[in-house]
Amino acid sequence: MRIPAWFRAEYAPGDVPLLARLATTAGKLERLGLVSLQQAPPATPDTLAGLHDARYLHAFLHGEEPLASRQGIPWSPAVRDATLAMLGGQLAATDAALRDGIAMNIARGFHHAVPESGSGYCPLNGLALVAHAHPDRRVMVIDCDEHGGNGTEEFAARLPNLYNVSIFGTRFGCRGGVRSWAYQVRVREDGFDRYLDALRAAESLVDAHRPDLLLYQAGADCHEDDPKSLAGLTTRQLFERDLAVFRIARSRGIPLVFVVAGGYQHADRVARLNANTVRAARHVWS
Ligand SMILES: [Zn+2]
Repeated sequence: MRIPAWFRAEYAPGDVPLLARLATTAGKLERLGLVSLQQAPPATPDTLAGLHDARYLHAFLHGEEPLASRQGIPWSPAVRDATLAMLGGQLAATDAALRDGIAMNIARGFHHAVPESGSGYCPLNGLALVAHAHPDRRVMVIDCDEHGGNGTEEFAARLPNLYNVSIFGTRFGCRGGVRSWAYQVRVREDGFDRYLDALRAAESLVDAHRPDLLLYQAGADCHEDDPKSLAGLTTRQLFERDLAVFRIARSRGIPLVFVVAGGYQHADRVARLNANTVRAARHVWS
């Protein structure tokens, strides 16, 4: 089974290294026969209206500084278009998952973007967007990036159908709150059992809140060789993490969309880790 995975060239402008690596991942996943690549039109301003504060959205769409670049990547039309392309893919992958059970967007989740602005290289929050676009569905994020999903946490306090569970090595301001739960685990110090405990806590939250859709941030920046990693998971432990999250969804029949999120090793190395995540999905859904 090839996992349907949304991607288009606009996601990965060559002059933005942080995003260009998404093309490395997409190419590798396709060459390995792990995914079938799909394309969707970019998100429109109408779809985005009301997610972020109107002043910030206008600034980002039109390149008005300093707000447009506050997230850390210098604004350019290509950065805007990459963001809108990824968000369009996110919505299309969501529709596919709601129909067929599982879908991938070869994109960042943009979990640091807060309602008032972008933050931490995240211009517009692509996880909160799904809840915003589907107000009649309970959407739960399981965020296993190295960094806590502080932006999604703030959105969860605003959007009554958004739930955020974040398991991270680096807190990034994520402390838990309204419909948001935060678990800091550093595997090298705490042991992998603590990480598995956090995943079990996520599973209990799924049973307590019965989401209609799960969004999985399958970050690779918590890998032990990543320059940003304090969580320190081995390749094998990342795979076990992925299996655990996918099984939570699959065993309950809950549709799931996953994104690759962070990863700061050499792009080929990150792509290998991303491929393992897709292998885990195929294993659980085959
Ligand atoms: Zn990260």
